[in-house]
Amino acid sequence: MTATDALPPLAGLTPARLDWRRDDSGETAPHSTAFDDVYFSRHDGRAETEQVFLAANRLPERFAAWRQARPFVVGETGFGTGLNMLCTWACFDAHAPARARLHLVSTEKYPLDRDDLARALAAWPDLAERAAVLCDQWPEAVAGVHRLWLDERVTLDLHLGDTVERLHLLDGRVDAWFLDGFAPAKNPEMWRPELFTAMAARSRANATFATFTCAGVVKRGLKAAGFAWRKVPGFGRKREMLAGEIAEPPADARRRSTPWYTPPAPRPARHVAVVGAGLAGTAAAAALARRGVEVTLIDREGPGAGASGNAQGALYVKLAAETNLQSRCYLAGLLHSQRWFAFLDPDRRLWSPCGVLQLATTEREARRQARFLAHHPLPASVVHGVSAAQTSALAGVTIDRSGLFYPRAGWVRPDALCRRLAAMPSVTFRRGEVQALVAGADGWRLMLDGDAGLEVDQVVIATAGLANRFTQTAALPLQPVRGQVSRLALPDGAPTPHRVVCAGGYVMPPLGGELTFGATFAPNEAGDEVREADHAANLEELARTLPGYPATLAAAGVALAPETLAGRAAVRAASPDKTPYAGPVPDAGAWREDYAVLAKDATRVPALAGRHHGGLWISAAHGSRGLASAPLAAELIASMICDEPLPLEVPLADHLHPGRRLIRDLMRGMPA
Ligand code: SAM
Repeated sequence: MTATDALPPLAGLTPARLDWRRDDSGETAPHSTAFDDVYFSRHDGRAETEQVFLAANRLPERFAAWRQARPFVVGETGFGTGLNMLCTWACFDAHAPARARLHLVSTEKYPLDRDDLARALAAWPDLAERAAVLCDQWPEAVAGVHRLWLDERVTLDLHLGDTVERLHLLDGRVDAWFLDGFAPAKNPEMWRPELFTAMAARSRANATFATFTCAGVVKRGLKAAGFAWRKVPGFGRKREMLAGEIAEPPADARRRSTPWYTPPAPRPARHVAVVGAGLAGTAAAAALARRGVEVTLIDREGPGAGASGNAQGALYVKLAAETNLQSRCYLAGLLHSQRWFAFLDPDRRLWSPCGVLQLATTEREARRQARFLAHHPLPASVVHGVSAAQTSALAGVTIDRSGLFYPRAGWVRPDALCRRLAAMPSVTFRRGEVQALVAGADGWRLMLDGDAGLEVDQVVIATAGLANRFTQTAALPLQPVRGQVSRLALPDGAPTPHRVVCAGGYVMPPLGGELTFGATFAPNEAGDEVREADHAANLEELARTLPGYPATLAAAGVALAPETLAGRAAVRAASPDKTPYAGPVPDAGAWREDYAVLAKDATRVPALAGRHHGGLWISAAHGSRGLASAPLAAELIASMICDEPLPLEVPLADHLHPGRRLIRDLMRGMPA
């Protein structure tokens, strides 16, 4: 089975089934009715966590001694209420030096709902602030990786789904394991031998583990997977528990059939240049700056000048009716962006999660949407079907079409967002045009116009349609797509949609007294001048999307004519497969040499890791969905640069790999 086959569908998860029972001390604590076991004892749960997981992994000492640039990584099986992870965060704060960082990775197949989570954690008043941060960002119950930013130094990746499956899909290595999950006798499905082999394969050298149980199946599984274990005194009435380590974890075998995607070895990243200050570039700069990297952000214009310079943009995706990797990436991106915007801008100055309606304007689209809903049982809070009456009620204007509703998607102010990200501490903006990139022994020199050049450790290219103008990136195909939005000034009290409504184009709730709608989509066209013909096309699309609306506006005295509209045009960039490029830049010449045999026989995969332009990265081809893809691409690249667990499963990270087209062309015998 390949990693792709193992990827779960776009699906919601079964929620935790629990009730609240009195424990030994008479306190009420969460109890799983599905497993007939406790999450923790309210009486001594905290002390148990500290002894069993933190002390047995020697975390206070190891945190105090942590001096590496990468974060210390803790992995857990069974997140439950998050008590273990919140205690680990508190322990890190108490012991780690100021510049140290912590990365928590935890799996959960049956997530609690937010109310139960808050109720369970209310048992620990001194964890209240941390619990509030967790509850605020608590993700949708959708299988996949969900990244939460607990504070400036601490990140939590929740891998929702079955532990063994999720560990197979995890790209990252762990320093200390919390082997939790209900008792092996009550949850044999989780404690199967593959659990221990998956843990071993995701361990750093000398990774430790600790677990509350001493069950034979656990001892045997750990030993067979290469862990050394010993019995240590257990907590409370439990006489013994297990702790231990793995000296030499196995190599990662998952990319044996796709060696070209093997990640490049980590390199120093004290100073990184990000070229391009649109959404992709500013998000990458902010992601790196948050990790303590000094960033020089370079653009020939100001932040948010090109296609990211619109005053308002829709945050939405169009998911395929049948499951595919691209849709999985976009769903992950949408959920990531929704969390990221809420975290970045809780006051909602830069965005509005007003909800997005995707209308079925044709019978064909209605059938496609019905197929989508039948295939993908996602939570209603992510997306659900709505009738014609409901779309009108939600939008506040007459629509008369059924559709899909994404209640937590919405719109963003991309121009203001780019400016805000470019002004983050540790980001220095520099105006200039990079002419060439020259590789040095252990870094890069950027040749800027009229300048001696800038020396940095690594470079992220995020210049949309210009991203392949460097010799190192020339093999990555990019297509220009011109797009123009139209803006209509509205008088006070004019009727407006309350949600983003999209069909062929989109129309958004008004911002600053203006209604924005569009955008045109003209592949292979460049030029950023505003055209009246494009305004006319946007007006036609508006009338198709909201058929009764132009008449309603006319009745309110608003003239709808192309010449009365304001607008903005920009050129977006798309890849041939309409998926962004996010990752390391392949050395195309080396790939063509190393993998030439694929042209004759695509099954003869050479055992050669992909050669890359070390320290060179790209985030581009976000097309018109950058608000959903660029923030996740930025996290992905920053995580790769900083040697951290990735915020995406292996097959999804590989799907975004900038070299995918080179391999496809080689396999099809296409000339370079
Ligand atoms: N570590 C938790 C805490 O700090 O609150 C307590 C964990 S609770 C005892 C066990 C957790 O494992 C439950 O949340 C349960 O839903 C989860 N779980 C059980 N089987 C699982 C599986 N196969 N994959 C992922 N999670 C699982």
